[in-house]
Amino acid sequence: MEAIQLLLDKMDTEEGQPIRYFLIHEKERIDVNALLGKTIKIQYTGNQYCIRCGRKSTRLFGQGFCYPCFTTAPEAEACVLHPELCRAHEGIARDMEFAQNHCLIDHYVYLAATDQLKVGVTRHTQIPTRWIDQGAASAVMIARTPNRYTAGCMEVILKKFFPDKTNWRSMLTNKTMQDPGFNAAIEKLPILLPSEWHIYLITNQTITKLYYPVQAYPDKVSSIDLLKVPEISGKLIGIRGQYLIFSDGQVINIRKHSGFEVRIEVG
Ligand SMILES: [Zn+2]
Repeated sequence: MEAIQLLLDKMDTEEGQPIRYFLIHEKERIDVNALLGKTIKIQYTGNQYCIRCGRKSTRLFGQGFCYPCFTTAPEAEACVLHPELCRAHEGIARDMEFAQNHCLIDHYVYLAATDQLKVGVTRHTQIPTRWIDQGAASAVMIARTPNRYTAGCMEVILKKFFPDKTNWRSMLTNKTMQDPGFNAAIEKLPILLPSEWHIYLITNQTITKLYYPVQAYPDKVSSIDLLKVPEISGKLIGIRGQYLIFSDGQVINIRKHSGFEVRIEVG
């Protein structure tokens, strides 16, 4: 029996067939794919720490920030979740240097498919990481814009036609569309978007398929919240998005528990 104590944070990923997942422990990476088929136990110690400043906190906000960091850190600014609220192009941001590298750079608007087509926005450096984190089965970039704000405005319009959320239950039971209909959706874009944005549209799109390390998908899933159920254990049968999938249908969203101190035992 091996045991390790660590602070949960978003799993690192590497492209591949299948994709490879890693938990970060101090400076080391723990290969999560290697745990597939094994019995593992994750126990919450009751302690939470801010993933940015390390301060012990009784309550974390926005995926792992203490309240002071959540209200001041550039990583937790409103435009992270709502790109259309970005003001960096007007010289307004919590930290302009951070904004230079995160907002005032090329962004992609994309369509990603699981049980339906959804629209999203990401920095050009986050392809395909962003799609992997969402557990998309396939995805395609549809526009490249010079900053976050423009991509966000485009997304706001496209949200009227495509949802912007992934249904995690469908994703974790692999209810994937046979034909996501990317081409039909792409053909409609010039009609849906104002003409001044047509210069940003990408021609010659390539569809990226993503392959997750999943031995079998459960028929039904229930998501564990460590604040309510401080322990999850069972046979690990898959990893998709930021979720671990257990053979009895229990799943846990690792990213959602960023900053939670846990003890992980591998049987
Ligand atoms: Zn903090």
